[in-house]
Amino acid sequence: MIKAYRSSILRFATQGVPRHCAVFEEDGLLVVGPNAQGQSVVQAVGSYRDLKDQFSGVATEHWPGRIIAPGFVDMHLHFPQTNVMGSPADGLLPWLENYTFPEEKRFAEADYSAREATFFIDELLRNGVTTALAFASSHTASVNALFSEAHARRLRLMTGLVLMDRNAPANVLNRAATQGVKDATEQSLIDSEALLQKWHGTGRLGYAITPRFAPSCSAAQLRGAGELAAKYPEVWIQSHVAENKDEIQWARELFPQSRSYLATYDDFGLLRERAIYAHCIHFDDDDRALMRATGAVAAVSPTSNLFLGSGFFDYAGADRIGFNYGLASDIGGGTSFSPFHTMLAAYYAGREGQTKPGLSLSPQHLWWQHTAGAAQALGLDGQKGRPSVGNLQPGCDADFVVLNPQATPLLAHKTARVNSLDELLFALIVLGDDRLIEKTVIS
Ligand SMILES: [Zn+2]
Repeated sequence: MIKAYRSSILRFATQGVPRHCAVFEEDGLLVVGPNAQGQSVVQAVGSYRDLKDQFSGVATEHWPGRIIAPGFVDMHLHFPQTNVMGSPADGLLPWLENYTFPEEKRFAEADYSAREATFFIDELLRNGVTTALAFASSHTASVNALFSEAHARRLRLMTGLVLMDRNAPANVLNRAATQGVKDATEQSLIDSEALLQKWHGTGRLGYAITPRFAPSCSAAQLRGAGELAAKYPEVWIQSHVAENKDEIQWARELFPQSRSYLATYDDFGLLRERAIYAHCIHFDDDDRALMRATGAVAAVSPTSNLFLGSGFFDYAGADRIGFNYGLASDIGGGTSFSPFHTMLAAYYAGREGQTKPGLSLSPQHLWWQHTAGAAQALGLDGQKGRPSVGNLQPGCDADFVVLNPQATPLLAHKTARVNSLDELLFALIVLGDDRLIEKTVIS
């Protein structure tokens, strides 16, 4: 059934510079209806005046004073770390040991995983996130629970079994088969392929091959992951790289034959399109060029990087060499599910000018990184017959948020005084949180 929504509408031009690519209709009309596959997509979008006669027979909801914007795309977060958020620690490695691993072991249990999956997806939707690439844990129960719940709620979600066969407590490592002779490494790859075949392409779900990070995986496990990635080019790969200097040194000691920490992944066939690497902070230009050449992309996770004191993503470096990136909450190293908090933290990370060139990311560019830009980085931009999310151009999945710029006294006070689109978007980024999201619509 075709439906229409009248409101202010934010979307992004598909061509042009991300800094200036926002398209804003003060009084707009968004028309949504099924495509040939039955998925609800944007049929038309533009000014109400231009479209109203063409769609005069279509039932229209009118939301004066509101803004319709694309559903947010979170490129990297950890489903089993919701309860780890806000845990005090001396940086990444102690934080993993003292908080993260003890919580993740609970996800061996199906009931616990199911309850946590419901809460996790509630939080994503409450914060306006309609597409996410998430880590599960090293237990198949966690993967099944998250996929089941996402499918029921019609969230577009990619996840996968965490591969880690060493350098962590036994209860968060992959396990050997209880019957037969498969060791933990072999079993983790068999389980990954079985989960991939069960879930990838079911509704809006996708599988992601998920080596936690090189130090937690044996060479045999990384090799097996790379073989899966070659066998299934349409599935995603997700991991971490170059977050923290101690972690880099550890990775270099474990894989001394590779040119760099990032190059380790390339040596095992784990850099390609649809390969998403969280952080990418401590890179040299050869690493940046390797990202560009392979089509791998960065999930920039600024609240996590600030919280753990890991460093600052070098936007100027990424743009100079030309590899793709988008934004991520990195729950639970990250401190908020809210895309507004993540966009503001990205602005802080961009401004920092002591360890790298500092710059002011434009409000349009920040928003784009968490919507259309993130979708493009994930390969969900409508190319090669793939779905398109994170935008509201015709043909895109009709996932959107309805923003209320009067949601708090301060937002109302400030947004009444803005004089340009950049001023409006920046006020929402700096002052916004989940209260700004009046509703999240998955059509
Ligand atoms: Zn992470």
